[in-house]
Amino acid sequence: MVKQAAAPGTCSVCKETITKRTAVSHLQKNHVPDSGEERFVILVDTPYSSPYWMVILAKPHGTLGDLDDALRDIWVECCGHLSAFTILGTEYQEKHEDMGNAPFDHAKSTKVKIEKVLRPGMVFSYEYDFGTTTELRLKVVDSIIWKKQPDKMVMAAMNRKPDLVCSECGKPAIFHYLENDDETLLCLDCGSNEDLDECYLLPICNSPRTGLCAYEGGRYEEEPE
Ligand SMILES: [Zn+2]
Ligand SMILES: [Zn+2]
Ligand SMILES: [Zn+2]
Repeated sequence: MVKQAAAPGTCSVCKETITKRTAVSHLQKNHVPDSGEERFVILVDTPYSSPYWMVILAKPHGTLGDLDDALRDIWVECCGHLSAFTILGTEYQEKHEDMGNAPFDHAKSTKVKIEKVLRPGMVFSYEYDFGTTTELRLKVVDSIIWKKQPDKMVMAAMNRKPDLVCSECGKPAIFHYLENDDETLLCLDCGSNEDLDECYLLPICNSPRTGLCAYEGGRYEEEPE
């Protein structure tokens, strides 16, 4: 995995360019109404340096399950793998009847309300898929007033897709080629080479799960031009 600096991002409200460091203050300065309802500001990134980050505004009455759904929908879902949060050493996982000896069998349920387990200043972690794991780091940066919206989780800002280049020719890359490792990137032309086995091609996505398992992008993924 290539280590990279955080990529610049976009505010979902005004589309202005912001950075991981300025994202939360930008939202506080420009988009907090006089009246509304409380939201926890959660900065999501990775425990290692990477281009990927986003800001999720969570209703304190929403549950960890709602946050799990949002993370899956936006960033990690590929084949319905298990996932878990770890908060102050306690694991939380969605309970399935057939889970038997799952690694987080002792975990608490994600049906718990966010305000019961999180408060501003807390850092916690999330894992999706206990085989080819994607690990996320989350920090509750603040609690702010936000306009009333039905969605329990709102994606307020996210990094822009990093520009990656083809390992063969240097043109903009759009595929991972996974035959030998996850480092080979290919452009449309090089990825269309008949000698390649198509089953090793995966689209490059704007997510820390790009190139892993069968990941093909989330809710805000833009189609390649
Ligand atoms: Zn904005
Ligand atoms: Zn998968
Ligand atoms: Zn190429």
